[in-house]
Amino acid sequence: MSIAANIAQVQAEIAAACARADRAPAGVTLVAVSKTHPPAAILQAVEAGLRHFGENRVEESETKIPATIAQTDEPLIWHMIGHIQSRKAKQIPPLYQVVHSVDTLKLAAKLSQQLTAAADTLDVLLETNVSGEASKAGFAAAGWHTDPAIRERLLAEIGQIVALPGLNVRGLMTMAPIVADAAQTRPIFADLRQLRDLLADSLHHPLPDLSMGMTDDYPVAIEEGATIVRIGRAIFGERQTER
Ligand SMILES: *Cc1c(COP(=O)(O)O)cnc(C)c1O
Repeated sequence: MSIAANIAQVQAEIAAACARADRAPAGVTLVAVSKTHPPAAILQAVEAGLRHFGENRVEESETKIPATIAQTDEPLIWHMIGHIQSRKAKQIPPLYQVVHSVDTLKLAAKLSQQLTAAADTLDVLLETNVSGEASKAGFAAAGWHTDPAIRERLLAEIGQIVALPGLNVRGLMTMAPIVADAAQTRPIFADLRQLRDLLADSLHHPLPDLSMGMTDDYPVAIEEGATIVRIGRAIFGERQTER
């Protein structure tokens, strides 16, 4: 299948999931995760109408993003979805318009410093580990429903982040565990939505976005409220090299 045909298929599945949840498809942004794929593949997706692309490594983005935007007149929006070492914070604002992977107060503070110095702002999402899997990055949130200490720590840390200048904190991002049946991810996505509701209420800060859902689980994520889905393999096929 061509990239254009894959995109049409994904868009049809997004529309179907929205219909099941009684949501408007315009409320779900499709981010095509182009990591490991060359500018030529991204340009095919641009041709098919996509404008949002997700990358996970600064080194790769430094050459790929300029090479891609040099070949199109369309305004593209670049999303950073991978782990960021805090010494790389400087390189983030010039490359990306949205960062999904702010996972510590320290990284948020570094980004805020860079942005303030440049009189710039950046949309960010806070990566949150609601499943408790040890291999996953993000603010530790597993058990927040039952453990007040976890809730208080999250409110304290995230309260400090939303107050930082230069950062426009738009919401939360999560990665669900890999499971045999996508339906098993539903409680994880519902949990992220409920945590978002609690944080937005308690901090009096609107958090409209939920970045959740990948190739194997995005229809379930949309049914549970995702406003951004991050989809790689269903659009571009298997990755060139696994990382
Ligand atoms: C690679 C990646 C994706 C896309 O995964 P697919 O399974 O290819 O859709 C989404 N989010 C993050 C954070 C990723 O690293």
